[in-house]
Amino acid sequence: MEPSRKLRNLGIIAHVDAGKTTLSEALLVKCGAIAVAGTVDDGQATMDFLREEQRRGITIRSAVASFGWKGLRINLVDTPGHVDFGLEVVRSLRVLDGAVAVFCGVRGVEPRSLAVWREADSFRLPRVAFANKLDVPGADFERLLTQMRESFVQTPVPVVWPVLSREGLEGWVDLVDWKAVRLRGTATIPLPEIPRAWIEAATPWRESLWDAASLHEETLTEIVLSGETPSPKLLREGLRNGCRAGKLVPVCAGSALMGVGVETLLDAVGHYLPPPTVPVAWKDHPGLGLLVRCHDTESGSHMALVRVWSGGFGPGRTVLRGGGGKGTIAGIWSVFADDLRPQENLVAGEIAAVELVGDWCAGDTLLADEPDVVLETRESHQPVLEMLLEPCDAEDSVRLETALSRMVREDGALAADRDLQTGAWCLQGVGELQLDVALARLREEYACVFRSRPPRVVRRERISRGSGRQQNRLEIDGVVVEAWCEVMPAAAGNQVRSVLSAPDEVQDTVVRAAVDEACQIGACNVGNLEGTSWTVGFVLEAPEPRRALHLVKRCLDHLCREALAAAGVHVEEPLFRVIVHAPHEAVGNMLHELQSRGAKILNIEAKTTGSTIVANSLLSSLLGLTILLRSLSKGQAETTLEPLEWVDASESRQTPRSETPSNNDI
Ligand code: GDP
Repeated sequence: MEPSRKLRNLGIIAHVDAGKTTLSEALLVKCGAIAVAGTVDDGQATMDFLREEQRRGITIRSAVASFGWKGLRINLVDTPGHVDFGLEVVRSLRVLDGAVAVFCGVRGVEPRSLAVWREADSFRLPRVAFANKLDVPGADFERLLTQMRESFVQTPVPVVWPVLSREGLEGWVDLVDWKAVRLRGTATIPLPEIPRAWIEAATPWRESLWDAASLHEETLTEIVLSGETPSPKLLREGLRNGCRAGKLVPVCAGSALMGVGVETLLDAVGHYLPPPTVPVAWKDHPGLGLLVRCHDTESGSHMALVRVWSGGFGPGRTVLRGGGGKGTIAGIWSVFADDLRPQENLVAGEIAAVELVGDWCAGDTLLADEPDVVLETRESHQPVLEMLLEPCDAEDSVRLETALSRMVREDGALAADRDLQTGAWCLQGVGELQLDVALARLREEYACVFRSRPPRVVRRERISRGSGRQQNRLEIDGVVVEAWCEVMPAAAGNQVRSVLSAPDEVQDTVVRAAVDEACQIGACNVGNLEGTSWTVGFVLEAPEPRRALHLVKRCLDHLCREALAAAGVHVEEPLFRVIVHAPHEAVGNMLHELQSRGAKILNIEAKTTGSTIVANSLLSSLLGLTILLRSLSKGQAETTLEPLEWVDASESRQTPRSETPSNNDI
């Protein structure tokens, strides 16, 4: 069954402070889903990540809200705003069919908006933009459009022309319907005619909208070329085709705080953003969905936000987990702003809350039946930072274990492992902010008491070449062990092939243990060695072979170490792309700091919004950088870090500190 044409799954993407939360509230109020907008400033926002909600285990409500608008049903999915929550951002973007990108009309296009924009580009997500805060004196719509044109591959096409005066927003001209409204307080008064001065200012924008739309609709091109006035229906057709093809972005305007311009934005969502479709590859699957978020409930089940790609699910059914495992659906709910309403079933295209019994994590694939599909693999989100958490006593240790297991399940990009000897926990993640937030939640939400060490970069050992055949002989008290081994580089994991004269499970286990230990310890005091393929064999001559296995292990331990030494072990660290956007006058300081940390400067580009520096650096040189650069620039620098690859740390440190940047502006 095809998903409903009247459904829109969308997210709001924005730089922190652009007004994402305020706009979400305004949308809910406009659609009648809530009576009055709680403002962000008094901490009452419905879509905000409220700690109290978290405590009560109903966080799913802040992850999605469903509401109706002129016959459409809109699922508004929350997307985290920081790159350290990259995995959650990516997972949220993946389940959307379109997005509203909010920009602050005063500050314009900011670096973080650019980073999320690029991510949305990689998912080919059609977008509508909203120029917010136009009620604030100093807001500049034209400057924002110029910045958008400079920064994005898509053409920004205003569908309204806001009339801004020194006091703020006076009204606007609808460039598609060619009508005007004047603002009186927060009320919009439709005008019988467009005032003459407004016509003059808006006409060039109306014409550029015609040009942009006619590129995507042939009939429209003919009408525009013949000098006739095209109908709003045809203009919307052209804009829709261009928007869904990722060629243009319709731009709406207003003030989320005053709740103005929001209606036009909702109409634009219906006109231009696409409904869900079933991906061709999974067209015939009986039921395939992704767990976007997952939280434990008080009763021990899990409340998950699920996007269904194909087929459907019903309550009470047994379901499978992609890659192995099964569970049961205890209930399905639509999430409205202030309550959960039970649903009979969940079909392709929908996003809803599902209560699941069994062992489930965010990122898991939900299947109604065979064939097996795994939508998201964990390998793609390798942790790059780790920190030690030391509980003070046994009671703290138990509390910490429970809290960590919950948080790892909810996040998917966090990992936790206990050192059995010391009892300390090693918490791993993908960014400093992610670990900071995890620590704060452990202490405040779960009342865990522990000492924590500063974060450090995860390092790993890798071999550079094959070791060749290595041999070792041990002779003690009439026992003789003749062993040999060879290690070769492999794509992932550590594979072992034992070549024994007579296949034997116990002897196999000894071989596996020797290799595992060698990989765990490594050859450079770092360990964490993976990507190897071992071939190991031995001959044992002993009166009682079973009692001589410890000597075999000793011989193999030595041999594995020799093999690693011959295979040229090196230490790898994560290399990151650093993008710093700062006011022109702060660029000198930023460059100095980056270069003194050994970053390789790749490019410096000056734009109207400031300068952008792009560099590559080992993550270990970047710890604390974001906060430092912000303070060096009086709070104005924005730093984005993106993982690139793992590289040989010693080689990277020896590269020259900086190369001449390919800079044509400075
Ligand atoms: P978020 O971080 O993107 O979710 O932004 P918020 O919605 O929390 O808004 C950040 C600040 O901007 C808050 O103080 C809001 O009251 C304010 N704000 C949001 N939208 C508007 C607007 O349209 N006009 C004005 N004047 N302030 C706004």
